[in-house]
Amino acid sequence: MVDTMVTRRASLQVRIGDMQVGGDAPVVVQSMTNTDTADVAATVAQVRALAEAGSELVRITVNNEAAAKAVPAIREKLDALDCAVPLVGDFHYNGHTLLQQFPDMARALAKYRINPGNVGFADKHDKQFTMMIEAALTYEKPVRIGVNWGSLDQQMLAKVMDENAASTSPKDAAAVAREALVRSGLESAAMAESIGLPANRIILSAKVSRVQDLIAVYRELAARCRYPLHLGLTEAGMGSKGIVASTAALSVLLQEGIGDTIRISLTPEPNGDRTQEVRVAQEILQSLALRAFTPQVTACPGCGRTTSTVFQELADKIQTYLRDSMPKWKAQYPGVESMNVAVMGCIVNGPGESKHAHIGISLPGTGEQPAAPVFIDGKKAKTLRGERIAEEFQAMVEEYVKINYGNKTERQHVA
Ligand code: SF4
Repeated sequence: MVDTMVTRRASLQVRIGDMQVGGDAPVVVQSMTNTDTADVAATVAQVRALAEAGSELVRITVNNEAAAKAVPAIREKLDALDCAVPLVGDFHYNGHTLLQQFPDMARALAKYRINPGNVGFADKHDKQFTMMIEAALTYEKPVRIGVNWGSLDQQMLAKVMDENAASTSPKDAAAVAREALVRSGLESAAMAESIGLPANRIILSAKVSRVQDLIAVYRELAARCRYPLHLGLTEAGMGSKGIVASTAALSVLLQEGIGDTIRISLTPEPNGDRTQEVRVAQEILQSLALRAFTPQVTACPGCGRTTSTVFQELADKIQTYLRDSMPKWKAQYPGVESMNVAVMGCIVNGPGESKHAHIGISLPGTGEQPAAPVFIDGKKAKTLRGERIAEEFQAMVEEYVKINYGNKTERQHVA
């Protein structure tokens, strides 16, 4: 575990398969597929890619009979591929009938996501919500009660609006909508408990698409319940906008100790890589020192003091090398994910920043001596020169990993 300044909010602990969420468990990284669930091969491939990228829970939509029928086959194929990542079923409108009609699907899923705004309207709402909770009881599954701004329970909104109109100090429309969102989650969870679902089988989420609203809603939820909370800025958007907005919102909450699982809802570029949302989630948690997933590279942004692209290329090469090595290193070199490597562009901040890293290199800027000092654990270890600086530095990083994170035999061998 990484040292942090964060005191996590006290929450109940929920078991999802072999995994714990909430309590003192680390914040869990989730993702969601965008394949047609009925397409078993495509869904298996994407779940596997997300899991290999580091997603610890993967949600799949279960929107019709074809999708429901496919779920057991998806689970079997993933198991055959040694991919044990728990699958979460995302239900809207017809989840109550699908869970009843497809018991193998209900069994194969590790958790059900229920959106109380989409379980049926008027007098059907309570009946259909009850059917879903009964399925969770029958198959001993936890649920996430996932409220969403875009599908807010309209009856709840009307109720809160009426109360607000009768209040002596009425709130503005945005505050009323936030309160309706929070109440929808909390009252649905209370209803699930009244049907018999234990509190430690419930996770809550209340997603909105604006950063300040998300922060306000989750602070309220955190103060009013002990269920673990799943965080995510819904419809965060594409590219840097989605990444920045999600990071801004989640960082504030995580720093306050709020949040037990997270998902980054990025809109992928056409033919883009779905696993990007997993990497962003990991980078947020690692930047906040809540978890460590992969060694980090500290690189300077470059400026007029270094006109060459050598240090950018080296930083990119080392980052790629570290990331690509992690699947193998994870088991072989425990703790390596906390390592920090510096690649700096010139003498101004290069030696200083390199000394702060476990291993760092300060490349020569324009007009400086063509020499690149390497620092290991704060001390100058070697000066590299010539055409093969990149290869030699990578070899030094590899050696550092073996010496510091390898087993005894490996350490002796390197020494
Ligand atoms: S370390 Fe040197 S090259 Fe890099 S940003 Fe600072 S002054 Fe510029």
